[in-house]
Amino acid sequence: MRIDLHAHSNASDGTEPPAVVVAAAQAAGLDAVALTDHDSAAGWEEAAQTADAVGIALVRGMEMSARHLGVTVHLLSYLHDPTYPPLVAALERVHAARRERAQAMVERLARDYPIDWESVARRAAGGAPVGRPHIADELVALGAVPSRSAAFERLLHPRGPYYVRYWAVAAQDAIGLIRAAGGVPVFAHPGATGRQRLVGDDGIVQMHDAGLFGLEVRHRDNPPEQRVRLTALARRLGLAVTGGSDYHGAGKANRLGENLTAPEVFREIIALGALPLVGRAPLDG
Ligand code: AMP
Ligand code: FE
Ligand code: FE
Ligand code: ZN
Repeated sequence: MRIDLHAHSNASDGTEPPAVVVAAAQAAGLDAVALTDHDSAAGWEEAAQTADAVGIALVRGMEMSARHLGVTVHLLSYLHDPTYPPLVAALERVHAARRERAQAMVERLARDYPIDWESVARRAAGGAPVGRPHIADELVALGAVPSRSAAFERLLHPRGPYYVRYWAVAAQDAIGLIRAAGGVPVFAHPGATGRQRLVGDDGIVQMHDAGLFGLEVRHRDNPPEQRVRLTALARRLGLAVTGGSDYHGAGKANRLGENLTAPEVFREIIALGALPLVGRAPLDG
């Protein structure tokens, strides 16, 4: 069974609509895919319709922005109730913070590039939470950089002059909210060097104590030595190990199915989550 538990659509910062992502997952030979847009469940309905139509199991998920000691961390949530009011309130606050932050970054960029906020805001489709990829796309359109990746490498990275941080929920609180909403929380790309500082073992222990289910060890941004460290830590703490592609359509080189989650772990997630899978039942065939 091929199970990819990390993919984005244009309901956040992927380049393709949810229907296209789910159809591409089926075409890539996956049995199950999770749609995990940043801080949003807006793509779920469209994704579910396509999952039914093409015959693939869909895990309704999200990648929630959080922070740990000033470092941004991403928490995948699977099968949570998206209407749980405290979670909805936290996400609304994150959306507002992302917007203010993106505006502040555009103001800084506007000193050196002919970029304006309205053009960036338009790139976040239908109220999608705005992120640096939307700024990157506008910089590409202006001819300032050749690609999203180049925009990140040259202009948008955390140590650059245009970077601005944004408020997000503390990781332990985010894990509590996800659990209270019936979701299954997994720390996304916990060994991703080259972003910001890594969360240390002590931080992961704290997240474990707050109710973390697993670590996304199999992700292209975790280098081999980090995978060794995280695998050992997962075993010691009794955390599950997961994998996912972090597909963003044309926005990143990541391909659907390039990292997978084991069927046993997938079964545990299904058993724990508040919502059922939709589309085809992958465990019966
Ligand atoms: P933000 O959520 O605004 O902080 O932006 C982070 C997002 O930017 C991540 O979720 C990725 O989708 C994207 N991203 C980060 N680095 C790169 C890169 N080198 N190339 C393309 N997209 C990237
Ligand atoms: Fe992203
Ligand atoms: Fe992420
Ligand atoms: Zn992601």
